[in-house]
Amino acid sequence: MTLTEKITASLAPCGLDCEKCFAHVAGDIRHYAVKLKEKLGNFHINAKRFETLLDEPVFKKYSDFKEMLDYFAAENCNGCRNEQCKLFKNCGVRACHQEKQVDFCFQCDLFPCDRTNFDAGLYKGWVMINQKIKETGIEDFYEKAKTRPRYL
Ligand code: SF4
Ligand code: SF4
Repeated sequence: MTLTEKITASLAPCGLDCEKCFAHVAGDIRHYAVKLKEKLGNFHINAKRFETLLDEPVFKKYSDFKEMLDYFAAENCNGCRNEQCKLFKNCGVRACHQEKQVDFCFQCDLFPCDRTNFDAGLYKGWVMINQKIKETGIEDFYEKAKTRPRYL
């Protein structure tokens, strides 16, 4: 796979990194959630015991933690290039970039447009990301962003 192919596979047309999304089937968040589940095994059986044994009330919250961990570990999305986004069901970018025949919004002559259907926060992020890509180039942006957490 060339670097350009890798970048396009990882970054959605809006510029967000699908591979870092908690819902991505092959993303790090799911990967580590699955691993942690494996390592914890039947910890939930022991959580109650530790609560008393260690006099540690935090173990009362284990079932909530487990519920979240199960959610992160569940197989979910294959990324925006492969299927409709599971989180932003109303996203206007996916269909639009196909119609406009651009890989990314920053390449589009209408950017920044009013077709995204994003809320104010996401819209702001979308503009920032695409302006940054325009300034630095997609490869530089990808290299610098790839070790940054998805959620800042
Ligand atoms: S398409 Fe949406 S849900 Fe799927 S990985 Fe990308 S951002 Fe996450
Ligand atoms: S019109 Fe807007 S959403 Fe569609 S590709 Fe261009 S910038 Fe992206």
